[in-house]
Amino acid sequence: MKRPSRIADDCFVHDRDRLRHAEVLAILSERLRPVAGTETVSLPKALGRIAAEPVLAMRDVPLHDNSAVDGFAFRHREGDLDLAVGPTVAAGDLTPVSLDPDWAARIFTGAIMPAGTDTVAMQEDCILSVDGRSVRIPAGLRKGANRRLVGEDLRKGEAVVEPGRQLRPQELAALASIGLETIPVFESVRIAILSTGNELLRVGGNRSIEAGQVFDSNSVMLSALCKTVPARCTDLGILPDDPETLRQTLSKAADEHDVILTTGGASRGAEDHVIRTLDRLGKRHLWQIAIKPGRPMTFGQIGNCVFVGLPGNPVAAFVCFLLYCRPAVFLLGGGRHVEPRRFPVPADFLVERKKPDRREFLRGWLAQDDRGNLVVRKFERDGSGLISSLRQAEGLIELAEETRSVSPGDLVSFIPFSEFGL
Ligand code: AMP
Ligand code: MG
Repeated sequence: MKRPSRIADDCFVHDRDRLRHAEVLAILSERLRPVAGTETVSLPKALGRIAAEPVLAMRDVPLHDNSAVDGFAFRHREGDLDLAVGPTVAAGDLTPVSLDPDWAARIFTGAIMPAGTDTVAMQEDCILSVDGRSVRIPAGLRKGANRRLVGEDLRKGEAVVEPGRQLRPQELAALASIGLETIPVFESVRIAILSTGNELLRVGGNRSIEAGQVFDSNSVMLSALCKTVPARCTDLGILPDDPETLRQTLSKAADEHDVILTTGGASRGAEDHVIRTLDRLGKRHLWQIAIKPGRPMTFGQIGNCVFVGLPGNPVAAFVCFLLYCRPAVFLLGGGRHVEPRRFPVPADFLVERKKPDRREFLRGWLAQDDRGNLVVRKFERDGSGLISSLRQAEGLIELAEETRSVSPGDLVSFIPFSEFGL
């Protein structure tokens, strides 16, 4: 397996106490380079992967002028036409046909246009004589109607995909249309997922749970989120808040993966050993981000492995994954960071006092007010442990650093989850 580059040692170094959202993204975009090697895979396996090389069309699509409908092909002239009915051409007929101007050919969708014809009249619009030997084509069609032109979908030499583009079903269709069977892509980023916390319990079987325990929902959520990025992930289970176990597991995981994704133990509490272990094994960089939820989010590195420490609270882990982890994985995996689009929508809620100097991401969804106008609503309760807020939501409402309050009717930025591939 070819590993083209190592991450730089000073990958996430900065000199700020608290980073703003935009600064975090700037650091990621500037410093992260692809670490994934490349491989060639068959088209069905290429879905969601990142193209590693440009692919140019080596032929025109379609390869020949052809009919877009079932009907009669003829040479265009003004006025009603009475033409003799000549040969029939169907999709898949390979023998060239040519026609004199007073003749029409019965033609089916996808069939090659006979030489000497330039227009197709739909069969519903034509009147065939009783003996079937002549056809009346009414006036009014424009020249070239119902004819598909050679190369109108793709021209020979035109780029079908650019390197860095994540392959969607529509790109795969275009690649197949030029006859390609395989495509060079970046290898998937290898991600290890780890939950930390003594209170956590793995789901499964009929596990009984006691007061003080919490089922580990983060690892399932993160594995599922990883399906939206060019990655293949290993769930390494739950780690107790114990420094020695953490050290051994993190060190081994770092050797075998491109990214370690942990949740929990990321703040400064006495039981928060993850960050201290990271300090021992590697380097910790981004520490505090001026956002809510998700302030204690950490980037670091252990050898050539990127360490991403997400907060333990499920909502914070979810939001931080979308905002920071997702772009990081794309960049490491040869892709690009595409800023999610923000749509201005009037708020249907009140935020009386928002702390300045931090960006907030509320869970929201689109609705119609009494007059039928589009508005965005927010989940009433604020807790970053409430998975119900994520279930109810269709996206994130972004309140900028300088926003101090929101009144109903104010325009706010709404980022649909689809912008994050969800
Ligand atoms: P921590 O970041 O370790 O302080 O955890 C913050 C909160 O998130 C605590 O209430 C934890 O119980 C909860 N939490 C941490 N990890 C998980 C997890 N894997 N699944 C569900 N909840 C978690
Ligand atoms: Mg904890």
